[in-house]
Amino acid sequence: MTSILKDIAADLKNSRYAVAFTGAGISAESGIPTYRGEGGLWTKYDPTLYASINYFLQDPSYYWNFFREVRYPMLKKVKPNPAHLALAKMEQVGKLRTVVTQNIDGLHQEAGSSSVIELHGTTRVISCVKCSLPYTIDQAFTFMQEECPPICPECRGVLRPAVVFFGEPLNPQILHMAYEEAANCDFLLAVGSSLVVYPAADIPLRAKQGGATLVIINKDPTPLDDLADYVIHEEAGKVLPLVVMSPENM
Ligand code: NAD
Repeated sequence: MTSILKDIAADLKNSRYAVAFTGAGISAESGIPTYRGEGGLWTKYDPTLYASINYFLQDPSYYWNFFREVRYPMLKKVKPNPAHLALAKMEQVGKLRTVVTQNIDGLHQEAGSSSVIELHGTTRVISCVKCSLPYTIDQAFTFMQEECPPICPECRGVLRPAVVFFGEPLNPQILHMAYEEAANCDFLLAVGSSLVVYPAADIPLRAKQGGATLVIINKDPTPLDDLADYVIHEEAGKVLPLVVMSPENM
């Protein structure tokens, strides 16, 4: 174990209130592509068509075809990786209060994390835009065998995923909860985020401004690297298990 990992593990052990902030990079090793950078989803799919509320309202079939071809098969096969499992373990041993995530894939919960704030919603829940009835992704997929976009059998409204599309505001209550975590924590572990999407990236920034130790684990440099106490440019699945398994945290 390198000395920086030992120092991070020691600071985590001594922390009173540790929070993790995660982005698409933590799920990359599970096989879910990030949005930006090499191999990123946006290099193949135009976000103005697949992820914007304006376009969804204009023509929801674009999103739903993307769901059928890309999103659904991916969600059915992906599993949490060692980085998700390490954060779940940190919570179980009482060293992590909450995961605040930008991700919409549900992998933190599947790994066993119970306190998860999903800033951008979840693709695992589908609801009707008219009557708000909730459906599973399997139900939406089945409805799509009949028609695309999928339609609510109760009221004939169009279905949508419970995600925050580009052009939509974040849920103010969820954002408030995340800001509270940033204010309360004395240790913030930012993992797999380019830290360029706001207001999400405000969470590590606010935590640091409030005096927390800021640790950034990300493959590529981020705009907050200069502010951080520790920066590791490595894959999360290699680094996080070492932090949890460190004798400092046993
Ligand atoms: P991003 O695509 O902007 O950045 C991802 C970052 O992860 C990059 O800086 C990259 O260097 C890093 N990275 C890639 N592989 C890594 C690894 N194995 N270990 C550590 N770091 C790694 O993603 P973002 O900052 O989360 O913001 C983009 C938005 O994309 C978010 O709002 C999120 O809702 C959405 N998104 C979610 C998913 C998902 O749910 N899995 C996937 C793609 C995008």
